[in-house]
Amino acid sequence: MNNKWAYSYQEGDGKNKQLLGGKGANLCEITQIGLNVPPGFVISTDACLNYLAQPEHQLPEGVMAQTREQMAMLETATGKRFGSATDPLLVSVRSGSAMSMPGMMDTILNLGLNSQTLMGLIAHTRNERFGYDSYRRFIQLFGKVALGVPDELFDEQFDAVKKNVGAESDVGLQAADLKDISERFLAVVRHHTGRPFPEDPYEQLEIAIKAVFNSWSGKRAVDYRREFHITSDMANGTAVNVVTMVFGNMGNDCATGVGFTRNPATGENMLYGEYLTNAQGEDVVAGIRTPKPLQEMAQEMPSLYTQLLDLRNKLERHYCEIQDFEFTIEKGVLYCLQTRNGKMNASAMVRTSVEMAHEGLISEEQALLRVNPQHLEQMLYPRLDPKFKGTPLATGLPASPGAASGQVVFDADRAEALGKQGLKVILVREETKPEDIHGFFAAQGILTSRGGKTSHAAVVARGMGKPCVAGAEGIHVEVQLRKAFVGGTVIKEGDVITLDGTSGSIYLGAVPKVEADFSDELITLLGWADKAARLKVMANADTPNDAARALKYGAMGIGLCRTERMFNAAERLPIVIDMIVADTAEQRQAALDKLLPIQRADFKEVFKTMSPRPVTVRLLDPPIHEFLPSEQQLVDELEQLRHLRLSVQGMEVLVETAKLLAGSNGEPLPSSVHELGDTRLVDSVITRKEQILKKVRALREVNPMLGHRGVRLGITFPEIYTMQIRAVLEAAADCTKAGIPVSPEIMVPQVCTAEELKHVKKLVQSVHQQVEATFGVKVSYQFGSMMEVVRACMRAESLAAEAEFFSFGTNDLTQATFSFSREDAENKFLPMYNEREILQDNPFEVLDVKGVGRLMGLAVGWGRSTHPTLKVGICGEHGGHPASIRFCDEIGLNYVSCSGPRVPIARLAAAHAQILLGKEKAVTDKAV
Ligand code: PEP
Ligand code: MG
Repeated sequence: MNNKWAYSYQEGDGKNKQLLGGKGANLCEITQIGLNVPPGFVISTDACLNYLAQPEHQLPEGVMAQTREQMAMLETATGKRFGSATDPLLVSVRSGSAMSMPGMMDTILNLGLNSQTLMGLIAHTRNERFGYDSYRRFIQLFGKVALGVPDELFDEQFDAVKKNVGAESDVGLQAADLKDISERFLAVVRHHTGRPFPEDPYEQLEIAIKAVFNSWSGKRAVDYRREFHITSDMANGTAVNVVTMVFGNMGNDCATGVGFTRNPATGENMLYGEYLTNAQGEDVVAGIRTPKPLQEMAQEMPSLYTQLLDLRNKLERHYCEIQDFEFTIEKGVLYCLQTRNGKMNASAMVRTSVEMAHEGLISEEQALLRVNPQHLEQMLYPRLDPKFKGTPLATGLPASPGAASGQVVFDADRAEALGKQGLKVILVREETKPEDIHGFFAAQGILTSRGGKTSHAAVVARGMGKPCVAGAEGIHVEVQLRKAFVGGTVIKEGDVITLDGTSGSIYLGAVPKVEADFSDELITLLGWADKAARLKVMANADTPNDAARALKYGAMGIGLCRTERMFNAAERLPIVIDMIVADTAEQRQAALDKLLPIQRADFKEVFKTMSPRPVTVRLLDPPIHEFLPSEQQLVDELEQLRHLRLSVQGMEVLVETAKLLAGSNGEPLPSSVHELGDTRLVDSVITRKEQILKKVRALREVNPMLGHRGVRLGITFPEIYTMQIRAVLEAAADCTKAGIPVSPEIMVPQVCTAEELKHVKKLVQSVHQQVEATFGVKVSYQFGSMMEVVRACMRAESLAAEAEFFSFGTNDLTQATFSFSREDAENKFLPMYNEREILQDNPFEVLDVKGVGRLMGLAVGWGRSTHPTLKVGICGEHGGHPASIRFCDEIGLNYVSCSGPRVPIARLAAAHAQILLGKEKAVTDKAV
């Protein structure tokens, strides 16, 4: 076999991330455009997959031979020799898969050191302290990553030496102390593994390569891929980078740091990052010392700062994306060690994309595609209420914006356990490590007492869009005691705190929060989205308030107004109940006459708010017993009322009576204590409750969701639909008279046959005639059908003859297509189905394109075969889900309708759908 496994940075294809991993490919790319990268090579992800596929995990044939060839090239490039006792070449061995998974896999630094090469390093650098510092770091990292020695065993020894010599941190340790530590570390390895630390550099290298390959299937990496839905076609296996070590810890003319070409928290166009002088890269990321902002380098190392700015400009101009890069300065020479696209929170992503388009670096289309619609959700995160004026308990670095409150927990396992119980928690740690990742998933926010804005906690929280305050040094965390101390205040596990990741403040208790505002850049981006999209985006909104909010989110109309939600207000419910319990048509009409002005006023307000945009009003849908209390509740209340009636004379029962009288059906409270003492009042309440109970029993159905609801109800009780139709059309007439342009649409729910539509249509036409005559104005409207019943889809061509529009109610249509109860499936078997991959997704969340979607596609085609201009939309929950929106675009829907806060997400997703569809079409056209 003559496979090529290893590629030098001079030869690797910088575009082939699948083969070389992101880090490897980028290092090839920037080496080839002339940036100063230490010489190195990359062993491919193919080698990793091959290795993991073997039962005993064997490196495929040729890997080590090619590694040796590449090492020889590094020796030539650097003039050093691997294993030399005079001027040894040392390398780092670093992971890197096609998708960036920060900190999830392993890296080993200073490889090649042993008792001989150490002497060479010391002799060559004439720096004994540096030699032993490098050695102890290597033994610990190699011991932990490659030999499985627990970190704590090393930390114990390290702390013991620090204590012996009275050093506060590693900076205070002398060469002799570091030598002592190295020897202790070697003993730890020997004791823990039963073998001496490997001395042969090539043996070290082979073990390290295998360890990095193994880390691809480690728990941390597997958990991370599952959480972020990284599938094998996105990233399969990790590559291994073997890179010449350059040292930021050789003295005060050395430094190491991480930079972002723009600020990843705000998007501001200026170099952002942190560095440490005389340190190795892991010190910055691990938060062991608190680093300095890069801007300080302008004073401390001015010429290097200029070089750093130049590196930043070159990286951004080459990639046209924000870069997150690592650098090291060794004795005044700047090296770039890594670059990748910067992970940012949504608002920074929106800002940088829009600004880069304004700067001409990218097109508007690229700017749109750069922002993941789902991520916009973060921008709608709550902030602390600006009216809140409390004093923070402590402050730290504002590491990831947003605000969150929750119970304090001190470790990731506890965060996970409480999170599973549905509790909101804040993970509080001294510093976090990659193995804490499950705690991040479970927590609302993260607080650390050490580390900078590029520490692990900060980077991971930002990627997840969770608030994080890092480096709050005024807090002393005592994990063992499960307490944290801030001055004289003690925070115990379970205490509630609030984090403000935007300002870095920490408060005791739960602080009130407010919704986020749209930034100017988001408004610009969504404006571009609306230009690029074909689908219109409507909102599901039921009240005038909802409508106003939806408009703020950019809704182009209301695609679903569930009128029954207007009935639920406390003062309206008794009238609705009157309507339901009525024994005669007259009684029912009397109640409806009271409801008419209420609904008309609501519709008028909604139409005014949305003018001139369309508003789709759905006639009453749920089974009417949903407005009544449950049978059990009524039985219980009646029993208590009868009991109370016997002793109602006594003043001592007045309070309880009052409570009961205000019971389940919104009765007004008796106005005076004397009334309470009056048994006649109790009698009248008993009579009413008995009447309601009788009705509840009469309305009982085994399967109410498949029962007397929707259009069936409207046909049985035409006076209810007539009242609603009248309210819609009179509100429209009122607005028209007042010069407010309106576009009302009347939609019928649960339709299965064209006959049902015809029935309701007749009602609409007759009310319409009356309203136009009474108001003396022309009122235009559209009439349409919900498509949420399988038969409606199968009979779409005949329904389309009666309707001007269809709206897919995919909540019910999913229920009907799967025969899964939408009320129960998600709590019962769906999670198990997802876990066992019987179903990939929750079909109530992600449209089941293959089943429900197929039915929709057929119905659209059949409907338009009779009615070519038929308007078709979707108003089920799927209307706000990006992948589902893409499908809706593909099958030619005219609009999607979703809840207000999801409207911006849907607008961007609709733009993505069109742009991507256009791109696919371009590829197919070319192929033809
Ligand atoms: C639907 O079924 O998708 C729908 C929008 O109606 P509802 O959720 O009110 O049943
Ligand atoms: Mg429905």
